[in-house]
Amino acid sequence: MSQLQERYNKLITPEVKKKEGLWGGSEKQEENVNLISKAVDIILEQAILERASDIHFEPVKGSLRVRFRIDGILNIVLNIEEPNGSVIVRRLKVMAAVQLDTAATQGSQDGRFKQKMGVSEYDFRLASFPTVLGEKIVVRVLNSNFSAYDLPKLGFDEKNLAMIKKMLQLKNGLLLVCGPTGSGKTTSLYSMLKQINTPAINVMTLEDPVEYQIDGMNQCDIKAKSKFHFADGLKAVLRQDPDIILVGEIRDGETAEIASRAAITGHLVFSSVHANSTIGTVVRLINMGLEAYLVSYALVGIVAQRLVRRICPQCRVSYKLSAEQAEIWRQYFTEGGSQGPKPIEYSGSSAVPLTDIMSYKGLGCPSCRMTGYAGRIGLYEVLMFNEELRQAILSGQSTVDLKKISVKNGTVLLATDAVKKVLAGLTTLEEVYPILIEPS
Ligand SMILES: [Zn+2]
Repeated sequence: MSQLQERYNKLITPEVKKKEGLWGGSEKQEENVNLISKAVDIILEQAILERASDIHFEPVKGSLRVRFRIDGILNIVLNIEEPNGSVIVRRLKVMAAVQLDTAATQGSQDGRFKQKMGVSEYDFRLASFPTVLGEKIVVRVLNSNFSAYDLPKLGFDEKNLAMIKKMLQLKNGLLLVCGPTGSGKTTSLYSMLKQINTPAINVMTLEDPVEYQIDGMNQCDIKAKSKFHFADGLKAVLRQDPDIILVGEIRDGETAEIASRAAITGHLVFSSVHANSTIGTVVRLINMGLEAYLVSYALVGIVAQRLVRRICPQCRVSYKLSAEQAEIWRQYFTEGGSQGPKPIEYSGSSAVPLTDIMSYKGLGCPSCRMTGYAGRIGLYEVLMFNEELRQAILSGQSTVDLKKISVKNGTVLLATDAVKKVLAGLTTLEEVYPILIEPS
């Protein structure tokens, strides 16, 4: 039984459950409200304790199922019998100030609320969705721990970190972070801004949504507080005498163009793009309709990233690869091919049979809830633009050639960073496997 289920059962005992009308009726209302809000409190508190990023409240037959997303994976943590489930959902909706009458809204709703826990205050974002069994609610726990936005702690190796710090000293240019949803792009962007945010400069942001409010920055939530799209908002931001601009995401050619023009006219512009790799981002921008000369002269750097689970340090063990696993590895230890160079430290060492390479895993212990993993670490590919790459983009060279140029100039490919982190015992082969096989 999960810790949350135990806590909940202590609060809502069979005796409490039997009391008629406790949850739904109007009698003893004060006591009801108290119990309901306590139940909600322990769910939110447990989510923070277990570092959940999202809490799912899902109607299943006869009850409400609660799942926490921890390190990217959903776990069932609580079952609440009806009618208690509906009452808890109602309480959450009151807190987030959204419409209670589902029939009247006919669709999904968004809301936010703050909750004090001990000395800290946390931000939560609520989204509802009508399913055939009733309303499903997802509560996102917004990162209220500002120390989490610490560039050196995100998992960049020394060389990548040095490249990023160098780019952050530039006065103008476009710096992009790419990766799929949930790959930690916002955390990287905030961490970069935190490094350079001082009272001497004007930082303006356009976000969807603002995930964390940072002192000294002028942040605009384009969905909640304005009728802006990124492109309109960006035009307004440019009239605000900015030094540094963060545009949450470049989704279209117009935004890409305004951001690029801002970057070549004396602003340092940060944004994110949905693309798999650094060179993939260049291609994506060109496909959006951005002229090659803008891509090559506005961009100063691109960071491609993924998040993988980190092996629990309490129960980590090393093991020898099986023949099957060694086969998967084999292709990542050979030179050449479209994937580019492989981990330099190991690629030439034919003296070491692959089956003798040690890998690591977590056996599972109480401190990692028997999963073998604790927290997550980023995998990165950092591309810093130089004249050779600019000329290659301008002359319309193929993506294979652009990739070769970037590797020659010091970019460590995502797959390579993944393999390195497996060999260093930070994560497992299973975690990075989807990244190794994805088309680049
Ligand atoms: Zn463990």
